[in-house]
Amino acid sequence: MTTVDLRSDTVTRPTPAMREAMLAAPLGDDVFGDDPTVNALQQRIAELTGKEAALFMPSGTQSNLCGILAHCGRGDEYIVGQLAHTYRYEGGGAAVFGSVQPQPLLQDATGRMAIADIAAAIKPDDPHFARSRLLCLENTWNGHVMPEAYLAEATALARLRGLATHLDGARVFNAAVASAAPGQGALARLREIADHFDSLSVCFSKGLGAPVGSALCGSGELIAAARRVRKMAGGGLRQAGLLAAAALHALDHHVERLADDHALAQRLAQGLAGIEGLTVRSAQTNIVFVDVADGQGPALLDHLQACGVLATGLIGLRFVTHLDVDAAGIDHAIACTRDFLARHAHGRLVRTLPSAGVH
Ligand SMILES: *Cc1c(COP(=O)(O)O)cnc(C)c1O
Repeated sequence: MTTVDLRSDTVTRPTPAMREAMLAAPLGDDVFGDDPTVNALQQRIAELTGKEAALFMPSGTQSNLCGILAHCGRGDEYIVGQLAHTYRYEGGGAAVFGSVQPQPLLQDATGRMAIADIAAAIKPDDPHFARSRLLCLENTWNGHVMPEAYLAEATALARLRGLATHLDGARVFNAAVASAAPGQGALARLREIADHFDSLSVCFSKGLGAPVGSALCGSGELIAAARRVRKMAGGGLRQAGLLAAAALHALDHHVERLADDHALAQRLAQGLAGIEGLTVRSAQTNIVFVDVADGQGPALLDHLQACGVLATGLIGLRFVTHLDVDAAGIDHAIACTRDFLARHAHGRLVRTLPSAGVH
């Protein structure tokens, strides 16, 4: 039985062509700065994002950490969403390693902090307060694309108030594909998104399908500071061109195809939307969230696993599409779900009988 793994877009295996590119890559010692493939990747992603420089990183978490610590010093703070990855899902790294205080703010259902809340959270220069230094946004957030007008407004406010801006763009290629104007390529749209920010972190190991790797992009000065932090964090890798080659291959071959993942997410959402007991809460880019009635989420997950379909979640389940799933896999996931809920609906009927006085 083949597994339909919808837990995350991180689960992809390198394609045969990607493996060939990895094997063929010229290598050097990147801590000495002489791995030609790492250097080519860094130059390429810096150009694509319109920044002076970029730094290859083992993970998105390390890339965000190095970015925040390059922008902020001890006693500074960064303003960030309450459910943003850079606040909630990175082990408190900025506070632990950098003595940088997060100022988390509530987000709406699409991941946006209110502009007024951001404005109110920026502290005056006063010894009572941490120094507000950085605004962090995330695009996509839970699959949602941040609208252009919001990116412009939030980053303009930050600049006006003297804050730097960082984008956690783990899935920014999904955002670029989904928000490109008709006839505009995804890479042109990526450049527009990046232009709003002083720095951004991008992941090659999510929808782009590389096995490992992220990059931090920004000014030459910022990237030099981030390189020191990366070394401290143990992220100075040696013949990392083996991995950078996969990322370069992904940039050449796996960007525009993200539209296929988005179409599969829609196919899944439409298939699940018709099933009684399920509510499709959100289905944006390559991520589908589904609420399951009567606390049956964990039981549905178990049932799906028995069918060879993997997802994550508890009350709300999360399904993520990527280049290692196809329409047949999605249809199988829908069929297994329908099967479970048909039986569950029957179970509910049986359970209501005692209260109706029949035993
Ligand atoms: C995955 C992810 C990261 C980084 O994750 P790593 O597993 O450390 O590469 C950062 N931000 C967001 C929004 C992510 O989804």
